[in-house]
Amino acid sequence: MGDAGGSGDLVLVTGARGFIAKHVIREALARGYRVRGTIRRPEAEAEVRAAVGEPGPRLSFVHAELLADDGWPEAMQGCRYVLHLASAFPLVAPVERDALVPVARDGTLRVLRAAADAGVERTVLTSSCAAIWAGHPPDPTRVLTEADWAITDSPRTDSYSRSKALAERAAWNFLHGTPTSMSLVSINPSFVMGPPLDRGVQSSADLVLMFLRGRYPLVPNWGVEIVDVRDVAAAHLAALETPAAAGRRFIVSDSALTLSDMGRILGREFPQFRKKMPKGALPDFLTRLLGRVDPGVRQIVPDLGPPKRTSSQAAREVLGIQCRPAEEALTAMARGVIELGMV
Ligand code: NDP
Repeated sequence: MGDAGGSGDLVLVTGARGFIAKHVIREALARGYRVRGTIRRPEAEAEVRAAVGEPGPRLSFVHAELLADDGWPEAMQGCRYVLHLASAFPLVAPVERDALVPVARDGTLRVLRAAADAGVERTVLTSSCAAIWAGHPPDPTRVLTEADWAITDSPRTDSYSRSKALAERAAWNFLHGTPTSMSLVSINPSFVMGPPLDRGVQSSADLVLMFLRGRYPLVPNWGVEIVDVRDVAAAHLAALETPAAAGRRFIVSDSALTLSDMGRILGREFPQFRKKMPKGALPDFLTRLLGRVDPGVRQIVPDLGPPKRTSSQAAREVLGIQCRPAEEALTAMARGVIELGMV
């Protein structure tokens, strides 16, 4: 790892069309890496090139699907590093608790096996704070760290969080049970906001769009820690380049915003949308009732109350990542979707 830091090394980025992946690709190109991205549809190539501003050969693409073996050995050829970001990330998690496990866990194992076989030096796995906090009851006195794991079998854990935790567990088990010189690092972001590079941004923008479209007359008593996508991208690159990161998980997160905070901040920063912002709080008993019919609300019911808290101390100390304030990430996302004409 001594000479890490660009110099034309080839990095594979899985799920290149994703919101976070586009930022990661842009950051990797800026640091002098060559990037190969995996996509599922041919039209994604032009979309990603336009978003990251790279029309030339420093960026290339291969077709690969997490649910199939085809394409992965070719994708790995000549790569020194792999950044595995691809995973299914729906804003509302499916009711069936194992629905996302094949893509997340089996897909991650497929990528790791192909990477180890191809002699890749380091893989960075994009896990999630969901793999840390899911299933734990809200407790404002508790600060969760990388030593904590989601309680995957808890009825409080939604299917998306379950898939991310099982995928990350499987990745570490794979690494510890496989004779390989490859090292693994996991990046565990909280809810990612920040500027979208194009209109292709999916689940991460949906929450902000719901505010700006006036979908929340009243908001549940719920909040979540937030991180800016630019810091998440920088953390991925630092995870490749920092020898001491090997074998570790890193939470990347700033503080939490409640839905009420978000409405207040967006109304203040974007006065033209003030009238669309929530008028007050939805009592918990009504949120629970609503959760019986609305799967999106049902998903947050276990976490009503004070938002969960995490520590990003390890990312600061080992990766040198100091996350921007949550408020800045929220307003950058809102400004982006407004400027892109998505509202
Ligand atoms: P996006 O939905 O924007 O991107 C997900 C990417 O994964 C897309 O490129 C998608 O491909 C690809 N993908 C999904 N299913 C498959 C599959 N079966 N085979 C191949 N590729 C697939 O999500 P984000 O950028 O927000 O998230 C990226 C990663 O970060 C994910 O692992 C997510 O779990 C994690 N994460 C995200 C957070 C957030 O708040 N955004 C928070 C914490 C973690 P296609 O474009 O073809 O659909």
